[in-house]
Amino acid sequence: MRTIFRLLPWVIGSALVFHLAIAQETITVAERELLPADRLPRRNSAPRNTTHQLTLTLVYFTGGAWSRDAVVTTAMNAAAILEQCGVRLRQVELVRVDAPTRYRYFDTPVSRELARALQLAKPAIYFVTDTRRRPAFDAEAIGRGNSGTRPELADSVWVTRAARDVNIALAHELVHVLANSGAHVEQPGNLMRDETAPDNTRLTAAQCDQLRSVGAENGLLRRE
Ligand SMILES: [Zn+2]
Repeated sequence: MRTIFRLLPWVIGSALVFHLAIAQETITVAERELLPADRLPRRNSAPRNTTHQLTLTLVYFTGGAWSRDAVVTTAMNAAAILEQCGVRLRQVELVRVDAPTRYRYFDTPVSRELARALQLAKPAIYFVTDTRRRPAFDAEAIGRGNSGTRPELADSVWVTRAARDVNIALAHELVHVLANSGAHVEQPGNLMRDETAPDNTRLTAAQCDQLRSVGAENGLLRRE
């Protein structure tokens, strides 16, 4: 009897620790919302020459640095920049994830685990707190061309809370993913200049052609 009493707290204690360890490792989808374009806050004024439709998966975290509203607004504004290419946002799938803190940072091995666990439709945009990568980029895109040994990350964008001009930064990274190209240009005012700035929003006809044809070929855009 005495032995049992002495053992009991230890047994309960280790059971709790074990349970906690399991809980901390778990990645789960807490909430999924499908929002068609007409239910999004900024009804997109799609130009008449729309030829392609885009569906985005938007990932954010319970207790993370991004609110649901900030995620939706950023994605809407970024997609609006792509309208000049005849690409219209058709709908977004909002995914709120419960995961340990380390998954809220872009860090190649950890982020690969996250993407593998979630198996989401692409292109997927992850709204993370920050990046652990060095050099640190405010936003980063992984196209098929540069996914190499990290296939889980292909066709994804990682946006940190620190990103300046975040709508433009996200639009820029989306072009990298859709066009499957890491190319930058020098033209003033172009979205694909190396440096993100409020006035850099334009895309040339050739850039639009490339992102439409490659994006459709890779199943990231749907023809109207
Ligand atoms: Zn770039």
